[in-house]
Amino acid sequence: MSPAPAPGAETYDVVVAGGGPAGCAAALTLARAGRTVLLADAGTGPPKVGETLVPAGRVLLGDLGVADRVLGSGHLPCYGNLSAWGSADLHAVDFINDPHGHGWHLDRRLFDRRLRDASGEAGAAVAEGTAVRGAVRQPDGAWALALRGGTGPADTGTGGERTVRCRWVIDATGRAAAIAVRCGARRRVLDRLTALHAPLEADPGDTDRRSLVESDEDGWWYTAPQPSGGRLVAYFTDTDLPAAPYTAHHFHRRMLATRHVSRWARRHEPTPTPLAAPRRAAAHTAHLDRVYGDGWTAAGDAAVAFDPLSSQGVLTALYTGLSAGRAVDAHLGRLRCGPGRVHDGEDSALAAYAHKVTAARTAYLRGHRFIHAQETRWMHRSFWARRLAGLPDSPF
Ligand SMILES: Cc1cc2nc3c(=O)[nH]c(=O)nc-3n(C[C@H](O)[C@H](O)[C@H](O)COP(=O)(O)OP(=O)(O)OC[C@H]3O[C@@H](n4cnc5c(N)ncnc54)[C@H](O)[C@@H]3O)c2cc1C
Repeated sequence: MSPAPAPGAETYDVVVAGGGPAGCAAALTLARAGRTVLLADAGTGPPKVGETLVPAGRVLLGDLGVADRVLGSGHLPCYGNLSAWGSADLHAVDFINDPHGHGWHLDRRLFDRRLRDASGEAGAAVAEGTAVRGAVRQPDGAWALALRGGTGPADTGTGGERTVRCRWVIDATGRAAAIAVRCGARRRVLDRLTALHAPLEADPGDTDRRSLVESDEDGWWYTAPQPSGGRLVAYFTDTDLPAAPYTAHHFHRRMLATRHVSRWARRHEPTPTPLAAPRRAAAHTAHLDRVYGDGWTAAGDAAVAFDPLSSQGVLTALYTGLSAGRAVDAHLGRLRCGPGRVHDGEDSALAAYAHKVTAARTAYLRGHRFIHAQETRWMHRSFWARRLAGLPDSPF
């Protein structure tokens, strides 16, 4: 498809594709820097439930000037983590020792919506339910972007199809990295981790505000209270392993065989009511071979996606979104748009951004190796043997 912008088409300095934490952090940063920004969010993808924001998240949200607004109400405090990892015994890490205080069990829908609202108040045009579908470079170096859907200010009421112009695109579309891949970047996928998750009914006696991780021979379990009531239970394993409990019966039976998670399951569901079949979500480690190119920059999961065991996904999305916003602003300050575009100096801001992403990924991979090396009870099982060998250099 080759969208040709109509005369007088909306024009922005930057279009941010994706209104999750990464896209919002980028849009907020650019709008505050005085750039004209369109934040387009498709609102698609699997629901994000049971997610925890680590205490340091408050610092980044503070840097974005939205900490109180975004965390003020609607989420549950997370006071620490319990884990049975490397042995069957349960160990507690209490956030009382964390300099940033407690973390949060997020209502992600609310969290993301507040971030988008804050972006709008900072001056970004926010187009809800709007997907960036096509991106074509124009002779003058600008992008013509095809948008579909829309209830936001950019909606023209034309059945949801329109074209806008911009100088730069930020790809914050999550794991799909929809724009960057279209621009020729390659996504490196390092494992086959998948999440199977199901809700547990609310239990008024359940006041534990900690999350719990428990390993078993083919993966690991996770449970956390949900702000909407009840708990989420998730099992993480590799998609190609026969042990993956895809049916309600298998999931339930396997959950009840755990030592610790089963206590929550029995508490919430004293009679073994069959759960709904668990939903699936991709949870693999992945990154792009480059996080920027001519006219585009990737942030958040689009740039680098982590194993949820790290609990670093939202934090990293905010960090890379904010950093990408700053880098693109600095870069646009040096870029003259016009026929035969001229770069006034090198792409140092974007190169520095790429280094930050690489540093975050390197730290994550080190942590991933370290944490998995602590679980040695099932080294003969594929899930653990793969992780003890380290994530492969060559992608799947
Ligand atoms: C099972 C599981 C559990 C997790 N648990 C945690 C946790 O406890 N703590 C934590 O910190 N992280 C956790 N994560 C990771 C976390 O969900 C992600 O790291 C985070 O959501 C990344 O934010 P993002 O803004 O990059 O992308 P996303 O949050 O995925 O947002 C992308 C947005 O882009 C939109 N979009 C997609 N395509 C287009 C398009 N073409 N045009 C416009 N918009 C588009 C989507 O609708 C979506 O709103 C977990 C992940 C999984 C899979």
